Amino acid sequence: MDIEQFRKAGYAAVDAICDYYQTLSERPVKAQVQPGYLLDKLPKEAPAQGEPFHEIAAAFQNDILPGITHWQSPQFFAYFPANSTFEGMIADLYAASVSNPGFNWICSPACTELEQVVVDWVAKMLGLGPSFWTSSGVGGGVIMGSASEAALTAAMAARERSLRRLAGHEHAAENGQIEVPDEIRQKYGQKLVIYGSTQTHSLGSKAAIMLGLPFRAIPVSAEDGYSLRGDAVRKAMEADVADGLVPFLVIATVGTTSSGAVDRISEIGEVLKDFPTTFLHVDAAWAGVAYALPEYRELLRLSELNEYVDSFATNLHKWGLTTFDCTLLYVRDRQDLTQTFDVTPAFLRSKEADAGEVIDYRNWQIALGRRFRSLKIWFVLRSYGVEGFQRHLERGISQCKQLAEAVRQSTTFELVTKPSLALLVFRLSPSSRSDLTNDTLNVLNQRLHDRLNARYDVFLTQTVLHSVETNIFCIRFAMGGVRTTFEDVQATWSIVEAEGEEVLKDWDERSVE
Ligand SMILES: *Cc1c(COP(=O)(O)O)cnc(C)c1O
Repeated sequence: MDIEQFRKAGYAAVDAICDYYQTLSERPVKAQVQPGYLLDKLPKEAPAQGEPFHEIAAAFQNDILPGITHWQSPQFFAYFPANSTFEGMIADLYAASVSNPGFNWICSPACTELEQVVVDWVAKMLGLGPSFWTSSGVGGGVIMGSASEAALTAAMAARERSLRRLAGHEHAAENGQIEVPDEIRQKYGQKLVIYGSTQTHSLGSKAAIMLGLPFRAIPVSAEDGYSLRGDAVRKAMEADVADGLVPFLVIATVGTTSSGAVDRISEIGEVLKDFPTTFLHVDAAWAGVAYALPEYRELLRLSELNEYVDSFATNLHKWGLTTFDCTLLYVRDRQDLTQTFDVTPAFLRSKEADAGEVIDYRNWQIALGRRFRSLKIWFVLRSYGVEGFQRHLERGISQCKQLAEAVRQSTTFELVTKPSLALLVFRLSPSSRSDLTNDTLNVLNQRLHDRLNARYDVFLTQTVLHSVETNIFCIRFAMGGVRTTFEDVQATWSIVEAEGEEVLKDWDERSVE
């Protein structure tokens, strides 16, 4: 494709994308295809001769779009939203146009310096304390692809920090790396333990698998709103220490995936004072962006985060208007990252880095190369402004409040947990039927979910809330879509209500037989 062909094909692509967005609300939210639909349709080998581009573009419409679940649909309420904006899409196009691996400053100075600027913009918008700002020279932020990657990165940094502490030295000599002595690594390397709760996202177990270390999923209670408490952390750690193990990382969550619970950061932080080899990472993949709203900072324990936490991650690609993928990882001390990831062979040395004048982000992450993601944050924040970003968040929260009211009014449904920002967790539980046990309600809600799942015009995800008291099967309704109106929420809620009635009717008929 030459420049003039690209010009034409590019305009046509933008037109096709506009048509897609114009018809998005008319499309059923879920893909209506069977497994293997595309495998059966496409040739088994790449074409020997090149094909005309208009045919390739047409195949996107004909072959690919039918197999797309429309995350950008105003009626998408499953998982969490994955907001994409036109600003983010255009930024990704520009980033692709200067495609480069940006692993150090000299690779493309703008990639590094724009990242430094925008991670601080976001840190300040969220109210993170100055120690997390890159401009502090001590801590700072780095953009990654996912919260799981951020947690693994934090876990690797935590492991090295605890080994350094076990070896009795923490800080590097001027500009130097600290080697952890082999005997310390051999003695403690396999004794380290990660802690989280039963509500921690699978990123906790995955980080543990990657490091070959155990993950303790500490039980929580419904009474505490499914939050991890300090006492429970202390108990688990004391038991491990008694067995000769070494706590090295707690992953606390602000806004759990199942129900939006917020762990008790200060309680955990106080406990960790007695376990100084332990690092505290906060996973706020979904809810972290809501720190942009000052009135929610207390609820989400921002001052505790600023006081106690070593690292913090949030996804701008969920509720934060920034086209996938865009996770921010902030650390209080960048040496935790550089002491772990700075491996510099001669061919990667540069005079700017040697002089300590620039950041080489390759030393803050697992991979060497990296995408130019700061551009989309820059475009989005400049186009929306902090106030526009806040209004977007408020809209999702307000829709959730309205839906919560409808559930409270309903005689067939109940809220299982308090509404959390834009996430509502509810279940079928008819108020007139006190004879139904929790086990029966779990069965009925599973049936409700099966019925909803069989439809293409709704997409809601189920969850099971595990607690020391019991297990509750429930349904999640995640608002916060950029294009979602309350009418969209209501349309889906009406379907849920109708399907709920069917489940109950069916249950009663079968009971009579
Ligand atoms: C979505 C989510 C994750 C996973 O995020 P990825 O970026 O896909 O790894 C982790 N933790 C929480 C609390 C989440 O909501």
